[in-house]
Amino acid sequence: MTNREKDMLSNIFEKALTGKSIFINRQVLRSDFIPEKLPFREEQINIIGHIFAPILQDSKPSNLLLYGKTGSGKTAVAKYVLSKFDETTKQHNKLISLAYSNARLAGSEYRVLVDLAHSLDMDMPFTGLPISEVLQRIYNNISNNNLKVIFIIDEIDYLAKHAKNSNDDMLYSLTRSSEHLKQGFISLIGISNDLHFKAFLDPRVLSSLNEEEILFPPYTVNQLSNILKERTQKAFSSQTVPLSTINLCAALAGSEHGDARRAIELLRVAGELAERCDDVTVHEKHVKEASMKIDNDRVYQAVKPLPLHEKTVLKAVTSNKQNSTTGDVYNKYQTLTKKIGVEPLTQRRISGLLSELDTQGLINASIINQGRHGRTKKISSVVSDNVINEIFEDDPVAKSLL
Ligand code: ADP
Ligand code: MG
Repeated sequence: MTNREKDMLSNIFEKALTGKSIFINRQVLRSDFIPEKLPFREEQINIIGHIFAPILQDSKPSNLLLYGKTGSGKTAVAKYVLSKFDETTKQHNKLISLAYSNARLAGSEYRVLVDLAHSLDMDMPFTGLPISEVLQRIYNNISNNNLKVIFIIDEIDYLAKHAKNSNDDMLYSLTRSSEHLKQGFISLIGISNDLHFKAFLDPRVLSSLNEEEILFPPYTVNQLSNILKERTQKAFSSQTVPLSTINLCAALAGSEHGDARRAIELLRVAGELAERCDDVTVHEKHVKEASMKIDNDRVYQAVKPLPLHEKTVLKAVTSNKQNSTTGDVYNKYQTLTKKIGVEPLTQRRISGLLSELDTQGLINASIINQGRHGRTKKISSVVSDNVINEIFEDDPVAKSLL
């Protein structure tokens, strides 16, 4: 390490020690932070409260489905209501078991059930048993101990889309759990980020899961701005974040789909960038940089693990002109495969890979109607060629595409 580097480091550490930071509490900017108040969600909170209330008189509440796009406050609201509910039941010595699992993070039906079992203080191995056996043990426990269980399955759409062959066996059984229970109950709250997820579900599951359903609309730019103001007061030292900065975060996050997570992430990354260049104010330029950084990081995460042929097709798209035909992309792809010395896949396979890249949002493939010339697929890049070059630069194999 050179002396200069040592000086720089001691500077950074010194600053951290003297506590002079624009942040006073970074925790409140984490995506899993649940604030004390959730403005603009009073209606949803009230309805959920009414749905849960019967448990306090020992009867089973309806199953419930919460849905809305990412960042519309579903997880925060569900956890908020649950924690308030937990306080009340404890004060009144009511025994209610609350369980939570995020299906995407859990990754499989089995793991979701393991989360449930662990919340009920049961031993359950992390692998190995048939789903039906896991369910039976959970039902036995509930029946034998007359348990009253509320089980939240967050990002439940993941299961409907990724369930291997079992085709929502678990959800089917859980929504009909009363048939397996002599006493006690299990009441389900499903949360979905995908508004179309209902189409993936077995109609029998759907009809019992959405006995009640609540839509979470996207936040408006104004609402996002208010949410950010609250958060800023907790997270940053006073006078470090001007209103114009907050409004820009709200406007950028609002221009997509009123996503509070995105708005808060923009504010956090902008704060970190300001801190890194020793600025005492978080400026609009930091927000713009933050927005680019977040997008680039996301692209990087998505592109990095792609197999070689996908990377090659992506490179073919980004180095071609916008609105290329599948044929144009295929020609470019063939040239690139020659360059790196691999056998090209057929045009049909490439067509399939293009659809996958489209689904991942890495390219844009749209059908364009050309009147009497029929319809044709036009392919455009979403990510700039430069960004792709930068990512491939660190990749020993993909590098040869450049
Ligand atoms: P979803 O589950 O719908 O994707 P979350 O509930 O995770 O969204 O919310 C994303 C972020 O925005 C979280 O950090 C959450 O605390 C915050 N948030 C969402 N709605 C509100 C609100 N009404 N007031 C304050 N913060 C909110
Ligand atoms: Mg969520």
